Amino acid sequence: MQLENLKDATDKVSFSQAVKKGLGKHQGLYFPTDLQPMSNIDGLLDMPLIERSQQILKHLIGDELAPDLVDELISQAFNFDAPLVNVTGNIFSLELFHGPTLAFKDFGGRFMAQTLSNISKGQPITILTATSGDTGAAVAHAFHGIENIDVVILFPKGKISPLQEKLFTTLGGNIHTVAIEGDFDACQQLVKTAFDDPDVRDGLHLNSANSINISRLLAQVCYYFEAISQLPKDKRTQAVFAVPSGNFGNLTAGIIAKTLGLPIKRFIAATNANDTVPRYLVNGKWDPKPTVPTISNAMDVSQPNNWPRIEALVEKGYFDKALLTGESVDEDYTQVAMKQLQALGYITEPHAAIAYRALSRQLHDDEVGIFLGTAHPAKFRETVENVLGQPIALPQALVDCASKASLAGQLGPQYDDLKAYMFETLGNK
Ligand SMILES: *Cc1c(COP(=O)(O)O)cnc(C)c1O
Repeated sequence: MQLENLKDATDKVSFSQAVKKGLGKHQGLYFPTDLQPMSNIDGLLDMPLIERSQQILKHLIGDELAPDLVDELISQAFNFDAPLVNVTGNIFSLELFHGPTLAFKDFGGRFMAQTLSNISKGQPITILTATSGDTGAAVAHAFHGIENIDVVILFPKGKISPLQEKLFTTLGGNIHTVAIEGDFDACQQLVKTAFDDPDVRDGLHLNSANSINISRLLAQVCYYFEAISQLPKDKRTQAVFAVPSGNFGNLTAGIIAKTLGLPIKRFIAATNANDTVPRYLVNGKWDPKPTVPTISNAMDVSQPNNWPRIEALVEKGYFDKALLTGESVDEDYTQVAMKQLQALGYITEPHAAIAYRALSRQLHDDEVGIFLGTAHPAKFRETVENVLGQPIALPQALVDCASKASLAGQLGPQYDDLKAYMFETLGNK
């Protein structure tokens, strides 16, 4: 697989290099130079999830990695299901939250961890990342116990839910967590400073493992195939996906799935009040406004960092932009949608509810709507209980870690303290 930097087409890299580097020159995203459709889609749809996903990844990555290795990476990464649940009439939920941290980010995070560990061939790596919630947990679990890779996760002290914090601060081993006295931006600033500091960057072999890593996107392509495979055969050409979107990685993966030949009819990009993309799709003006906080906080993004990849898919002729519409859902209607789903016997959290709302506004009678269930309702327990007025049971994974002690360290927002902490904890690599 060859990829090019979307900001500098002369910067071309292999899949392994793109995974290791994350971003290219001038902060440019890497994107495949060529996407060929797959043959025999019907045959693929008849396969079980793991086997089919192995075929998809081998097709995308090509002969750069040994086929056996790709098979191994996928079976290690995808050790949970993605059931398609009929919610009402022609509307389905694709539940992507049955992995270890109860959110769809487990798919990409686990595949990235397996891939990075294999292609770095025992070279030591330090992952340094800041989190406001979900990503930290997915990264921590995905890399936990992987040899030669240490993970340092910074989070704003007291600003994420206690349960969410326990999901990644109780692991120990190669997962080092630090509560920073400051907000999320302060954590991100520390990460940026570290990447600009050659002592730390080169001395500890830093890697960001963040959401723009190409390996995550490729893994996410697979569950769009899984969704269609679970539809009755006569409905497979009528599917419309509503994707609850923040940084737009999820939607990018869906469009790549369509490019490979999966019969997806069209997409709806569903956002909360941070509606840069829905407005852009209507008036053609890219006009981000300041980010506003919402109850679907994993989508509180006004400058989505994967959007240039979607533009690239359009410009290179792989995707017709007319097949994408936007829908922005405000706080009131997010709650209305959660209650409507509750009345249908389906308990959900705000992110998926936004996508459901988008479908109920835009789906035609002869179409089949699939919204992506991106997180388990228990992950947003307080909000869900407040809106729905009923207690939410905790899944076993959360019960288990809620009873363990947090192992997180604590630091102020000064960079020198973080630097000292990292060399003390990780030694010289
Ligand atoms: C990250 C996240 C999203 C947004 O996904 P993108 O790929 O960034 O668009 C939606 N819902 C939940 C629960 C998330 O954690």
